[in-house]
Amino acid sequence: MSGLTSMDVLVSLSKRRGFVFQSSEIYGGTGSVWDYGPLGVELKNNIKRVWWRDFVQARADMVGIDASILMHPMVWKASGHLDHFTDPMVDCRECKHRFRADHVDTLPWTHYCPATKGNKFTIPAGEPCGHCGQRRTLCPECGKGELTAPRQFNLMFKTFMGPVEEDAAVTYLRPETAQAMFVNFDNVLQSMRLRLPFGIAQAGRSFRNEITPGNFIFRTREFEQMEIEFFVNPNDRVDGRPADEYWHDRWIEDCMAWFKRYGLAAENLRLREHERDELAHYAKRTVDIEYKFPIGWSELMGIANRTDFDLKQHAKWSGKSLTYFDDERKEHVVPFVVEPAAGVDRALLAFMADAYREEEVRGEKRVLLKLHPELAPLKVAVLPLLKKRDDIVRTAHTIRADLARHWRVVYDDTAAIGRLYRRQDEVGTPYCVTVDVQTVGDRERGEAGDSRVTIRDRDSMEQMRVPIAELGAVFRELLDGAPWSRVSGRYPAPTAKASGP
Ligand code: ATP
Repeated sequence: MSGLTSMDVLVSLSKRRGFVFQSSEIYGGTGSVWDYGPLGVELKNNIKRVWWRDFVQARADMVGIDASILMHPMVWKASGHLDHFTDPMVDCRECKHRFRADHVDTLPWTHYCPATKGNKFTIPAGEPCGHCGQRRTLCPECGKGELTAPRQFNLMFKTFMGPVEEDAAVTYLRPETAQAMFVNFDNVLQSMRLRLPFGIAQAGRSFRNEITPGNFIFRTREFEQMEIEFFVNPNDRVDGRPADEYWHDRWIEDCMAWFKRYGLAAENLRLREHERDELAHYAKRTVDIEYKFPIGWSELMGIANRTDFDLKQHAKWSGKSLTYFDDERKEHVVPFVVEPAAGVDRALLAFMADAYREEEVRGEKRVLLKLHPELAPLKVAVLPLLKKRDDIVRTAHTIRADLARHWRVVYDDTAAIGRLYRRQDEVGTPYCVTVDVQTVGDRERGEAGDSRVTIRDRDSMEQMRVPIAELGAVFRELLDGAPWSRVSGRYPAPTAKASGP
């Protein structure tokens, strides 16, 4: 099996190997809230780091901010979230289960079939009962209760600023990071002396009181986003097209290329154009990048042309001008904005799902996370072949400490070498370094060591013997993207099979 796998396999691997844990598990867990463990936090940080490096650091037309989660409540009035950020919700009168009205027909449903003396069946979503032909009318969960009429439910978490719980103190946890970029538009423009087109990026937490969260970290109530607001002059033309349309297409291409570059297979990615009737009222055009998650094709990120809606709304509600002075035309304009908005947690889920492999190696199962080396939580594992030999252990610790100045590197001696390799394969560590007797020599036999260690490549399982003094340079090359074959061509393979595959 290669590539995409079931969600259960990922959930279990995540827990077993320290990627993602259920929040507050010892108290029975909190609904659809997850904690990232020691390897999960590394993977997540790596995703945010390469996103920031590629889309902010490397570009002359981008800057970043890090805004507060709590904002002035008027922000949410102006943005439309207070009035429109709602989902239609229905409740079961019997079991009190709550559903998104537009999701009810996409769920399998429980049915007590009158044609089979009331036997209970679970029927696939949208299908009628094979015995009595009835379609679902009652609660899909318990199969007994009537559903209420749909009610609008606001997805923002409400809280109070300060010690008094009164209406005047009400504020909200931000449901998206985007609004801080609009509210700070003029601060950023003036302080950085920017010229259109330019973008403001931010990665941070958002909160939505989702009615039906679930599917592991795909839809949660607290999550992280990586968002960009890219401002363009609507009067400009690029390649004979309006600038906003040109840049919208450029961002769609760039984001798609970014996901492929870090490992998502092209056949698991597709674009989905929003139909006219599903477009948000402010959007001129929206395109989602969808990924074939274990739950099926679903949104990984959205790229919207939001026109000048947001800046105009905030100018109207704050009374402050949010315009840009166009030097050439000698006029003030309200920029249009293109918004590439991605979820960190969904990206992490996609990268894990795509990287997951089960292979057979010499009759044994090998589980492999074929993560891009830049994303892999651990870059190198240093493993002593014999943990009873002090000199081997000492050398391994020194190598780890040396490499750890540059990368996340671990030492492990808690099992035999074959087992240690399997463990690193399963968490996606691209390289292992093994220190053996040949490295340090054998004083009792009067044999000198060769001061070389074995580097093993995760994907090909090939090995090469590299002088300890050259490890830093070799890993710099490999982790910078050099193919294994290019580097391994310069070094011998181990002679004695010091270590298993
Ligand atoms: P959906 O239709 O799945 O609810 P959305 O269209 O409301 O998502 P946006 O507001 O466009 O999402 O947010 C941008 C990105 O943030 C999404 O593409 C997704 O990756 C991420 N995201 C949104 N809501 C959640 C959530 N509840 N849990 C995890 N990630 C989320």
